[in-house]
Amino acid sequence: MIDLPRYPLATLPTPITDAVRLRAALGGPSKCPRILIKRDDLTALGLGGNKARKLEFLIADALAQGAHTVITTGAVQSNHARMTAAAACIAGLRCVLVLTSRYDVPLVEGNLLLDRLFGADVRFVPSEDPMLAVGRDEEVVANVVREEAAAGRRAYVIPVGGSSAVGAIGYVTGTAELVGQLRGMGAAPTRLYFGSGSRGTQAGLTLGAKLSDAPYKLWGVAVSAGEPEKIERAKKAANEAAALLGVSARVDRDDLFTDQGFIGEGYAIPTAAGLEAIDLLARTEAILLDPVYTSKGFSALLYHVRAGDIPPTDTIVFLHTGGVPALFTREFAATRT
Ligand SMILES: *Cc1c(COP(=O)(O)O)cnc(C)c1O
Repeated sequence: MIDLPRYPLATLPTPITDAVRLRAALGGPSKCPRILIKRDDLTALGLGGNKARKLEFLIADALAQGAHTVITTGAVQSNHARMTAAAACIAGLRCVLVLTSRYDVPLVEGNLLLDRLFGADVRFVPSEDPMLAVGRDEEVVANVVREEAAAGRRAYVIPVGGSSAVGAIGYVTGTAELVGQLRGMGAAPTRLYFGSGSRGTQAGLTLGAKLSDAPYKLWGVAVSAGEPEKIERAKKAANEAAALLGVSARVDRDDLFTDQGFIGEGYAIPTAAGLEAIDLLARTEAILLDPVYTSKGFSALLYHVRAGDIPPTDTIVFLHTGGVPALFTREFAATRT
Protein backbone atom coordinates (compact mmCIF):
# COMPACT_ATOMS: atom_id res chain seq x y z
CA MET A 1 0.00 0.00 0.00
CA ILE A 2 2.72 2.48 0.97
CA ASP A 3 5.72 3.01 -1.24
CA LEU A 4 6.72 6.47 0.00
CA PRO A 5 10.29 6.83 1.22
CA ARG A 6 10.58 5.92 4.88
CA TYR A 7 13.62 6.37 7.13
CA PRO A 8 13.73 3.71 9.87
CA LEU A 9 13.66 5.36 13.31
CA ALA A 10 11.08 3.45 15.35
CA THR A 11 11.18 -0.07 16.79
CA LEU A 12 8.08 -1.63 15.27
CA PRO A 13 5.62 -3.19 15.74
CA THR A 14 4.95 -1.77 19.18
CA PRO A 15 3.37 -4.23 21.62
CA ILE A 16 -0.21 -4.31 22.89
CA THR A 17 -0.79 -4.61 26.64
CA ASP A 18 -3.99 -6.32 27.81
CA ALA A 19 -4.65 -4.22 30.93
CA VAL A 20 -6.13 -6.99 33.07
CA ARG A 21 -5.13 -5.47 36.42
CA LEU A 22 -6.65 -2.14 35.49
CA ARG A 23 -9.81 -3.97 34.40
CA ALA A 24 -9.96 -5.76 37.76
CA ALA A 25 -9.54 -2.42 39.56
CA LEU A 26 -12.47 -1.02 37.56
CA GLY A 27 -14.83 -3.80 38.70
CA GLY A 28 -13.71 -6.74 36.57
CA PRO A 29 -15.25 -8.30 33.45
CA SER A 30 -18.82 -7.90 34.74
CA LYS A 31 -18.49 -4.11 34.82
CA CYS A 32 -15.55 -3.07 32.67
CA PRO A 33 -14.76 -3.80 29.02
CA ARG A 34 -11.47 -5.40 28.03
CA ILE A 35 -8.92 -2.59 27.73
CA LEU A 36 -6.02 -2.98 25.29
CA ILE A 37 -3.21 -0.44 25.28
CA LYS A 38 -1.27 0.04 22.03
CA ARG A 39 2.20 0.93 23.27
CA ASP A 40 3.42 3.69 20.99
CA ASP A 41 5.15 5.04 24.09
CA LEU A 42 7.60 2.21 23.31
CA THR A 43 8.56 3.17 19.74
CA ALA A 44 12.08 4.02 20.92
CA LEU A 45 13.70 7.17 19.44
CA GLY A 46 14.80 9.35 22.35
CA LEU A 47 12.28 7.88 24.85
CA GLY A 48 9.52 7.19 22.36
CA GLY A 49 6.11 8.44 21.38
CA ASN A 50 3.76 8.95 18.46
CA LYS A 51 6.08 11.38 16.65
CA ALA A 52 8.44 8.50 15.81
CA ARG A 53 5.98 7.17 13.18
CA LYS A 54 5.53 10.62 11.62
CA LEU A 55 9.26 11.31 11.63
CA GLU A 56 10.06 8.16 9.64
CA PHE A 57 8.26 9.78 6.68
CA LEU A 58 9.24 13.39 7.44
CA ILE A 59 12.96 12.66 7.75
CA ALA A 60 12.88 10.56 4.57
CA ASP A 61 11.20 13.49 2.79
CA ALA A 62 13.80 15.92 4.17
CA LEU A 63 16.65 13.70 2.94
CA ALA A 64 14.96 13.25 -0.46
CA GLN A 65 14.87 17.04 -0.78
CA GLY A 66 18.58 17.26 0.00
CA ALA A 67 18.10 18.97 3.37
CA HIS A 68 21.02 19.59 5.73
CA THR A 69 18.91 20.95 8.57
CA VAL A 70 15.47 20.26 10.01
CA ILE A 71 13.63 23.05 11.79
CA THR A 72 10.52 22.59 13.88
CA THR A 73 8.40 24.44 16.42
CA GLY A 74 6.48 23.70 19.59
CA ALA A 75 5.98 24.52 23.23
CA VAL A 76 9.04 24.36 25.47
CA GLN A 77 8.13 20.83 26.65
CA SER A 78 7.27 19.60 23.15
CA ASN A 79 7.67 15.85 22.70
CA HIS A 80 7.69 16.41 18.95
CA ALA A 81 10.66 18.79 19.21
CA ARG A 82 12.58 16.32 21.39
CA MET A 83 11.96 13.43 19.00
CA THR A 84 12.85 15.56 15.97
CA ALA A 85 16.17 16.38 17.66
CA ALA A 86 16.75 12.65 18.26
CA ALA A 87 15.82 11.76 14.67
CA ALA A 88 18.17 14.43 13.32
CA CYS A 89 21.07 12.82 15.24
CA ILE A 90 20.34 9.45 13.63
CA ALA A 91 19.87 10.88 10.13
CA GLY A 92 22.97 13.10 10.34
CA LEU A 93 21.00 16.35 10.07
CA ARG A 94 21.35 19.62 11.94
CA CYS A 95 18.31 20.46 14.08
CA VAL A 96 16.99 23.88 15.06
CA LEU A 97 14.06 24.03 17.49
CA VAL A 98 11.95 27.17 17.85
CA LEU A 99 10.17 26.78 21.19
CA THR A 100 7.61 29.03 22.84
CA SER A 101 7.92 29.55 26.56
CA ARG A 102 6.46 31.78 29.25
CA TYR A 103 10.01 32.42 30.45
CA ASP A 104 12.97 34.04 28.68
CA VAL A 105 15.20 31.35 30.17
CA PRO A 106 13.12 28.21 30.77
CA LEU A 107 14.24 25.48 33.17
CA VAL A 108 16.38 22.85 31.48
CA GLU A 109 14.34 19.79 32.45
CA GLY A 110 12.16 17.11 30.87
CA ASN A 111 12.04 17.35 27.08
CA LEU A 112 14.18 20.50 26.97
CA LEU A 113 17.00 18.71 28.79
CA LEU A 114 16.84 15.97 26.13
CA ASP A 115 16.84 18.59 23.33
CA ARG A 116 20.15 19.79 24.79
CA LEU A 117 21.55 16.26 25.04
CA PHE A 118 20.69 15.64 21.38
CA GLY A 119 22.63 18.77 20.49
CA ALA A 120 19.72 20.74 19.03
CA ASP A 121 20.13 24.47 18.41
CA VAL A 122 17.27 25.84 20.54
CA ARG A 123 15.73 29.31 20.02
CA PHE A 124 13.10 30.58 22.44
CA VAL A 125 10.08 32.68 21.60
CA PRO A 126 8.72 34.12 24.86
CA SER A 127 4.92 34.13 25.08
CA GLU A 128 2.41 34.35 27.93
CA ASP A 129 0.28 31.68 26.26
CA PRO A 130 2.67 29.32 24.47
CA MET A 131 -0.16 28.15 22.18
CA LEU A 132 -0.76 31.67 20.92
CA ALA A 133 2.77 32.42 19.77
CA VAL A 134 1.94 30.89 16.40
CA GLY A 135 2.71 33.51 13.81
CA ARG A 136 5.53 34.95 15.86
CA ASP A 137 7.35 31.63 15.79
CA GLU A 138 6.79 31.47 12.02
CA GLU A 139 8.77 34.68 11.69
CA VAL A 140 11.61 33.19 13.72
CA VAL A 141 11.48 30.04 11.57
CA ALA A 142 11.72 32.12 8.37
CA ASN A 143 14.78 33.85 9.82
CA VAL A 144 16.41 30.52 10.66
CA VAL A 145 15.73 29.28 7.11
CA ARG A 146 17.51 32.39 5.78
CA GLU A 147 20.39 31.94 8.25
CA GLU A 148 20.83 28.34 7.16
CA ALA A 149 20.76 29.30 3.48
CA ALA A 150 23.39 31.98 4.11
CA ALA A 151 25.58 29.26 5.65
CA GLY A 152 25.05 27.11 2.55
CA ARG A 153 22.60 24.70 4.16
CA ARG A 154 19.18 23.70 2.87
CA ALA A 155 16.51 23.64 5.57
CA TYR A 156 13.40 21.45 5.77
CA VAL A 157 10.66 22.89 7.96
CA ILE A 158 8.51 20.40 9.86
CA PRO A 159 5.21 21.95 11.01
CA VAL A 160 4.18 21.90 14.68
CA GLY A 161 3.55 18.32 15.86
CA GLY A 162 4.85 16.96 12.55
CA SER A 163 1.25 17.25 11.41
CA SER A 164 1.69 17.60 7.66
CA ALA A 165 0.31 15.17 5.07
CA VAL A 166 3.68 13.41 5.01
CA GLY A 167 3.69 13.11 8.81
CA ALA A 168 0.11 11.79 8.85
CA ILE A 169 1.20 8.82 6.73
CA GLY A 170 2.87 7.51 9.91
CA TYR A 171 -0.54 6.75 11.38
CA VAL A 172 -1.87 5.28 8.15
CA THR A 173 0.85 2.64 8.45
CA GLY A 174 0.41 2.64 12.23
CA THR A 175 -3.26 1.74 11.72
CA ALA A 176 -2.41 -1.12 9.35
CA GLU A 177 -0.03 -2.44 12.03
CA LEU A 178 -2.64 -2.15 14.80
CA VAL A 179 -5.51 -3.64 12.79
CA GLY A 180 -3.29 -6.59 11.82
CA GLN A 181 -2.36 -7.18 15.45
CA LEU A 182 -6.00 -6.98 16.57
CA ARG A 183 -7.06 -9.49 13.91
CA GLY A 184 -4.25 -11.81 15.03
CA MET A 185 -5.60 -11.61 18.61
CA GLY A 186 -9.18 -12.16 17.47
CA ALA A 187 -10.13 -8.79 18.97
CA ALA A 188 -12.58 -6.32 17.42
CA PRO A 189 -12.54 -3.22 19.65
CA THR A 190 -15.48 -0.83 19.44
CA ARG A 191 -13.53 2.34 20.30
CA LEU A 192 -9.97 3.62 19.97
CA TYR A 193 -9.16 6.45 22.41
CA PHE A 194 -6.23 8.82 21.92
CA GLY A 195 -5.14 12.29 23.03
CA SER A 196 -5.41 14.75 20.16
CA GLY A 197 -3.28 17.90 19.81
CA SER A 198 -2.06 19.20 16.45
CA ARG A 199 -4.19 16.51 14.76
CA GLY A 200 -1.66 14.76 12.52
CA THR A 201 -2.23 11.56 14.47
CA GLN A 202 -5.99 11.92 14.05
CA ALA A 203 -5.58 12.60 10.31
CA GLY A 204 -3.52 9.44 9.85
CA LEU A 205 -5.73 7.31 12.09
CA THR A 206 -8.86 8.48 10.27
CA LEU A 207 -7.55 7.81 6.79
CA GLY A 208 -5.91 4.61 8.02
CA ALA A 209 -9.17 3.33 9.55
CA LYS A 210 -10.88 3.68 6.16
CA LEU A 211 -8.07 2.00 4.27
CA SER A 212 -7.58 -0.85 6.78
CA ASP A 213 -11.30 -1.39 7.46
CA ALA A 214 -10.78 -0.85 11.21
CA PRO A 215 -13.47 -2.23 13.55
CA TYR A 216 -13.40 0.69 16.01
CA LYS A 217 -14.86 4.17 16.22
CA LEU A 218 -12.07 6.73 16.71
CA TRP A 219 -12.43 8.63 19.98
CA GLY A 220 -10.03 11.58 19.83
CA VAL A 221 -9.83 13.50 23.09
CA ALA A 222 -8.84 17.14 22.66
CA VAL A 223 -6.04 18.42 24.91
CA SER A 224 -6.25 22.05 23.77
CA ALA A 225 -8.77 24.53 22.35
CA GLY A 226 -9.20 25.74 18.76
CA GLU A 227 -11.50 23.07 17.37
CA PRO A 228 -12.76 24.60 14.08
CA GLU A 229 -9.27 25.44 12.82
CA LYS A 230 -7.95 22.05 13.94
CA ILE A 231 -10.68 20.10 12.14
CA GLU A 232 -9.69 21.90 8.95
CA ARG A 233 -6.04 21.11 9.56
CA ALA A 234 -6.79 17.41 10.12
CA LYS A 235 -9.00 17.24 7.05
CA LYS A 236 -6.37 18.88 4.87
CA ALA A 237 -3.56 16.64 6.14
CA ALA A 238 -5.67 13.49 5.72
CA ASN A 239 -6.82 14.28 2.20
CA GLU A 240 -3.36 15.38 1.07
CA ALA A 241 -2.02 12.14 2.55
CA ALA A 242 -4.62 10.20 0.53
CA ALA A 243 -3.41 12.00 -2.59
CA LEU A 244 0.23 11.15 -1.79
CA LEU A 245 -0.79 7.51 -1.41
CA GLY A 246 -2.83 7.59 -4.61
CA VAL A 247 -5.97 6.26 -2.92
CA SER A 248 -9.51 7.49 -3.60
CA ALA A 249 -10.64 7.49 0.08
CA ARG A 250 -11.59 10.95 1.37
CA VAL A 251 -11.87 12.28 4.91
CA ASP A 252 -14.72 14.64 5.86
CA ARG A 253 -15.42 16.95 8.78
CA ASP A 254 -17.90 14.32 10.05
CA ASP A 255 -15.09 11.76 10.31
CA LEU A 256 -13.09 14.06 12.59
CA PHE A 257 -15.08 14.10 15.84
CA THR A 258 -13.04 15.08 18.90
CA ASP A 259 -14.32 14.92 22.49
CA GLN A 260 -13.99 18.41 24.04
CA GLY A 261 -14.90 17.34 27.58
CA PHE A 262 -11.48 16.66 29.08
CA ILE A 263 -9.31 19.69 28.19
CA GLY A 264 -9.68 21.32 31.60
CA GLU A 265 -8.25 24.85 31.80
CA GLY A 266 -6.09 24.49 28.74
CA TYR A 267 -3.07 23.04 27.01
CA ALA A 268 -0.49 21.54 29.38
CA ILE A 269 -2.54 22.45 32.46
CA PRO A 270 -3.13 19.17 34.31
CA THR A 271 -6.67 18.15 35.29
CA ALA A 272 -7.65 16.31 38.48
CA ALA A 273 -9.09 13.46 36.37
CA GLY A 274 -5.86 13.27 34.36
CA LEU A 275 -3.71 13.13 37.49
CA GLU A 276 -5.93 10.36 38.85
CA ALA A 277 -5.52 8.47 35.56
CA ILE A 278 -1.72 8.73 35.87
CA ASP A 279 -1.84 7.19 39.37
CA LEU A 280 -4.29 4.45 38.46
CA LEU A 281 -2.41 3.21 35.40
CA ALA A 282 0.96 3.46 37.16
CA ARG A 283 -0.27 1.45 40.14
CA THR A 284 -2.18 -1.23 38.23
CA GLU A 285 -0.07 -1.76 35.09
CA ALA A 286 3.17 0.16 35.81
CA ILE A 287 2.44 2.14 32.63
CA LEU A 288 3.35 5.83 32.70
CA LEU A 289 0.96 8.38 31.23
CA ASP A 290 2.00 12.00 30.72
CA PRO A 291 0.36 15.12 32.20
CA VAL A 292 -0.27 16.93 28.87
CA TYR A 293 -1.78 14.41 26.43
CA THR A 294 -2.24 10.80 27.43
CA SER A 295 -3.59 11.45 30.94
CA LYS A 296 -6.40 13.58 29.49
CA GLY A 297 -7.11 10.99 26.80
CA PHE A 298 -7.16 8.21 29.35
CA SER A 299 -9.39 10.17 31.73
CA ALA A 300 -12.05 10.17 28.98
CA LEU A 301 -11.83 6.39 28.69
CA LEU A 302 -12.10 6.00 32.48
CA TYR A 303 -15.06 8.36 32.64
CA HIS A 304 -16.97 6.39 30.01
CA VAL A 305 -16.16 3.03 31.62
CA ARG A 306 -17.28 4.22 35.06
CA ALA A 307 -20.43 5.79 33.64
CA GLY A 308 -21.34 2.42 32.13
CA ASP A 309 -21.32 3.88 28.59
CA ILE A 310 -19.42 0.90 27.19
CA PRO A 311 -20.82 -2.66 27.48
CA PRO A 312 -18.45 -4.85 29.56
CA THR A 313 -18.51 -7.44 26.78
CA ASP A 314 -16.80 -4.91 24.47
CA THR A 315 -13.11 -4.47 23.91
CA ILE A 316 -11.65 -0.95 23.65
CA VAL A 317 -8.16 0.27 22.74
CA PHE A 318 -6.15 3.18 24.08
CA LEU A 319 -3.36 4.45 21.85
CA HIS A 320 -0.53 5.40 24.21
CA THR A 321 1.22 8.21 22.38
CA GLY A 322 4.13 8.66 24.82
CA GLY A 323 5.18 11.88 26.54
CA VAL A 324 6.97 10.41 29.54
CA PRO A 325 9.72 13.10 29.75
CA ALA A 326 7.13 15.66 30.91
CA LEU A 327 6.88 13.69 34.16
CA PHE A 328 10.41 14.84 34.93
CA THR A 329 9.62 18.53 35.29
CA ARG A 330 9.31 20.58 38.45
CA GLU A 331 5.77 21.51 37.43
CA PHE A 332 4.65 17.89 37.45
CA ALA A 333 6.68 17.02 40.54
CA ALA A 334 4.83 19.81 42.36
CA THR A 335 1.60 17.81 41.99
CA ARG A 336 3.19 14.94 44.00
CA THR A 337 4.71 16.55 47.08
C1 LIG B 1 2.08 15.15 19.99
C2 LIG B 1 1.46 14.26 20.98
C3 LIG B 1 0.11 13.87 20.90
C4 LIG B 1 -0.84 14.45 19.89
O1 LIG B 1 -0.56 14.11 18.58
P1 LIG B 1 -1.02 15.11 17.42
O2 LIG B 1 -0.67 14.40 16.18
O3 LIG B 1 -0.24 16.37 17.63
O4 LIG B 1 -2.48 15.36 17.59
C5 LIG B 1 -0.38 12.98 21.82
N1 LIG B 1 0.40 12.49 22.80
C6 LIG B 1 1.68 12.85 22.94
C7 LIG B 1 2.45 12.29 24.07
C8 LIG B 1 2.27 13.74 22.03
O5 LIG B 1 3.54 14.09 22.19
